Amino acid sequence: MKYDKNNIFAKILRGEIPCNKVYENEYVLSFYDINPQKKLHILVISKGEYIDLDHFNSEASEKEIVEFNKSITHIVKMLKISSSEDGYRVLTNIGLNGGQEVPHLHHHILGGEEIGKIVV
Ligand code: AMP
Repeated sequence: MKYDKNNIFAKILRGEIPCNKVYENEYVLSFYDINPQKKLHILVISKGEYIDLDHFNSEASEKEIVEFNKSITHIVKMLKISSSEDGYRVLTNIGLNGGQEVPHLHHHILGGEEIGKIVV
C-alpha cells in the first residue's frame, strides 16, 4: 500500500487543516481527537509519512522510532496523567481488522477517567 498524501493527518501536518495542538517537536505532532471517546483523548502522529505501525517499524530510522515512543511519556507528563499520576491507555489501530480509519501512523492516548478493561 502506498502512503496517501491526502489523508487528513497529512493535511494537518501541512497546516491545511487546523488541529487543537497539545505538543509538537521535530518527530511528532500531538493534538486533541475531534471525536473524543474518553474525557481526555489525544492523538500522537509521526511527522514522517508512515501508514501504520508496521510500516513505521520497518522503514523509520532508529531515532524516529525512539523519539515517537518517548514522546508519549513526555506528553502524559505534560498532561499530568503519567503512571505516577492517574495513568492512561495508549492504543494503536492497525489495518482493516484493527479498525484504522486514517492511514497515517498515530497512537491514541486515552485518560482523564477510568478506561475500563476493554478498549472502546
Ligand atoms: P483511527 O480509527 O485509529 O484511524 O483513528 C482516527 C482518529 O482520528 C479518530 O479517533 C477520529 O476521531 C480522529 N480524527 C479524524 N479527523 C480528525 C481531525 N481533523 N482532528 C482530530 N482528530 C481527528
